[in-house]
Amino acid sequence: MGSSESGGVLIAAEVGGNGALRPVSFELVTAGRRLADQLGATLSAVVMAPNASAVASELGATGVDRVLAVDDERLAGLPSEPAATALTAAIALTKPAVVLVPGTTAGRDYAPRVAARLGLGSAADCVDLQIEDGTLVAVRTVLGGRLQTRVELPAGSPRIATVRAGSFARAESGAAAVEAETLPVEFGPRDGRVTMRATAEKPSGPTNLEAAKVVVAGGRGLKEPEKFVVVEQLAAALGGAVGATRAVVDAGWRPHHEQIGQTGRTVSPRLYVAVGVSGAVQHNVGMQGSDLIVAINRDPDAPIFKIAQFGIVGDLFDVVPAVIAELEGTVG
Ligand SMILES: Cc1cc2nc3c(=O)[nH]c(=O)nc-3n(C[C@H](O)[C@H](O)[C@H](O)COP(=O)(O)OP(=O)(O)OC[C@H]3O[C@@H](n4cnc5c(N)ncnc54)[C@H](O)[C@@H]3O)c2cc1C
Repeated sequence: MGSSESGGVLIAAEVGGNGALRPVSFELVTAGRRLADQLGATLSAVVMAPNASAVASELGATGVDRVLAVDDERLAGLPSEPAATALTAAIALTKPAVVLVPGTTAGRDYAPRVAARLGLGSAADCVDLQIEDGTLVAVRTVLGGRLQTRVELPAGSPRIATVRAGSFARAESGAAAVEAETLPVEFGPRDGRVTMRATAEKPSGPTNLEAAKVVVAGGRGLKEPEKFVVVEQLAAALGGAVGATRAVVDAGWRPHHEQIGQTGRTVSPRLYVAVGVSGAVQHNVGMQGSDLIVAINRDPDAPIFKIAQFGIVGDLFDVVPAVIAELEGTVG
C-alpha cells in the first residue's frame, strides 16, 4: 500500500506549554497502533508545534511507521484554525481511514472543525476504540461517567475521534527510530487571527484537593461567601481540603479549582463531608467514589442523603460549630 493510499491511522501529537510532547500523544500511539494492526495498515503521526521537528524524533521511536512535523509559530498553543489547517494537510497527505486527536482543550476544538471542513464523521471523548468489520467502534462515557455508549462510524471516508487522556497505556520508545518528515503547510489569513500571547501556571490548589484524604465541601446552604468560614474551620479541624459545589463557584463565592463534580474535579478521599450541599447528580459524580460520605443538611429529603453513609439533619450553623467543638475537645 503506497503513501497515497494509506487507509491506515493518523494520530495528532500535541506539545504542551513546556515544549515537550504531551503524555496523551504517546497514549494515542498505543490506540493508533491497535487500530492500524486491525486494519492491516500503517500508523502515521503528525506533530503540530513551533518546535515540531525538534520533538518529533521522540515519537519516531515508539513504533509509528511515519512521523510528520509541521513547524510553525502559529501553532503555539494550538489555536483551532491553524491546527485544523495543519491536520487537514496531514489527512490529505496520508489518506487515513481513522484520525485520532487528543481529547485536550485544544483537540476538542480543532478536531470537530476538521470534521466539519471535510464533511467527516466524528466521535468525541472516546475511552476505547476498535475496528469491527471495517467499522470504527468508539466507546464514549456519558451522563458524567454513569453510562457508556457505542458510536459506530462505518468505513468510507476518514473518521475522526478525540480520545480522553488516560484511556490507553503510554507507548514506550525503543523501536527503530523513524525519521521525521517536514510537512509544508500553506496557512491562510484566517489562521493567524488567534495567537497564543502567554501561558500561566495553575494555582496549586487543585492538586491538594485531589490528593486530600479528607474533603469538606460547602454548597449554597452556606447562604453567603463570608459564612464559608465554617467549612474552612471544619476542614482545618479534620486536616482536610475545602471543596465547593458549582452553585457557589458560579456565584463567585469560591474559586473554580475547588469545584467538585461533572464540570469540576473528581475526588475520592477517605472522608467526604457535604455541608449545605443538595446532592445533585452533577455534583455526586465527582465525589461518589469517596470511602465515607457524611452529609449535613436541614432537608431530610435532600438527595445527598441517598449516597451518604452518615447523615445529620439540621441547621449547618448549629451542627458544624458543635462538630468542630467536639473535634477540638477530642484533640485537646
Ligand atoms: C451541565 C451541568 C453541569 C453541572 N456541573 C456541576 C458540577 O460539576 N458540580 C456541582 O456541584 N454542580 C454542578 N451542576 C449544578 C448542579 O445541578 C446543582 O445545581 C448544584 O450542585 C447545586 O449546588 P448546591 O448543592 O450548593 O445548591 P442547592 O441545590 O441550592 O442546595 C443547597 C442545599 O443546602 C441546604 N441548606 C440550606 N440551608 C441550610 C442550612 N442552614 N443548614 C443545612 N442545610 C441547608 C438545602 O436544603 C439544600 O439541600 C451542573 C449542572 C449542569 C446542568
